[in-house]
Amino acid sequence: MGILDGKRILVAGVTMDSSIGFATARVAQEQGATVLISNFGRALNITKRIAKRLPVEPAVLELDVTDEAHLAALPDAVREHVDGLDGVVHSIAYGNPATLLGGNFMEGPWPDVAQALQVSAYSLKALAQACKPLMGPGGSIVGLTFDATVAWPAYDWMGVAKAGLESCSRYLARDLGPDGIRCNLVAAGPLKTLAAKAIPGFEDLESAWKDRAPLGWDESDHTPTAKAVVALLSDFFPATSGEIVHVDGGFHAMGM
Ligand code: NAP
Repeated sequence: MGILDGKRILVAGVTMDSSIGFATARVAQEQGATVLISNFGRALNITKRIAKRLPVEPAVLELDVTDEAHLAALPDAVREHVDGLDGVVHSIAYGNPATLLGGNFMEGPWPDVAQALQVSAYSLKALAQACKPLMGPGGSIVGLTFDATVAWPAYDWMGVAKAGLESCSRYLARDLGPDGIRCNLVAAGPLKTLAAKAIPGFEDLESAWKDRAPLGWDESDHTPTAKAVVALLSDFFPATSGEIVHVDGGFHAMGM
């Protein structure tokens, strides 16, 4: 008996088995969910291969969150596998590492910033809107952030995008709440993934976590983050929306 028994979950943003989305799909399956995963472009074939490493091989959908045609086609693509969705995981971000990350904040060019904001923040609304016809009361949307209440070394414009994501989640909580749909985020500490490796100077964040997180922090262990996402997808947070749950070893609560 799992906490997602009978639930149908779409996890958007799985490329490698190092993706947080992969760990989330695994824990969701272990907890009884029927899981669909998605990715886009050239990496879709990698995702299809990686999907075989999950406990149950899930359906893999193509979804570029910036492509209106993909978003419009999503409900029918989902209905080929399940008759609706109880949960949606947004595990998606992109910012050009050469221009937007690694200490180049003052030089970040607008077209790249616009792309980062669209893929990493606006897309939460786009995905929620696309999935809404598939969802009903008790539905849950969960995204992933990196605490955007402060400025970090190296994170630069992705930090601004995450601030947008966090605000977007609160507005979705407002506008989807009357339909009984929750929207929450998990603020994870630094985890070794493809996206993280692309951030120049990410090691500095990792070492800060090692020094300050009172519970300690293992940047190779995605399971605590995945478990929190799954908990928020479940019926165990029925009255929680617009919330950000920190899964960071307690780092955010320390002054020094
Ligand atoms: P990841 O494995 O690289 O996952 C990011 C995913 O976003 C990839 O599957 C990527 O696909 C996908 N993506 C990028 N642009 C897209 C688009 N236009 N349409 C659809 N999908 C797109 O890295 P991750 O670390 O697991 O990231 C997942 C989430 O966790 C992100 O929101 C990230 O910011 C957040 N997060 C990560 C950390 C960390 O330390 N790793 C900490 C806190 C929060 P491609 O690989 O094909 O580009």
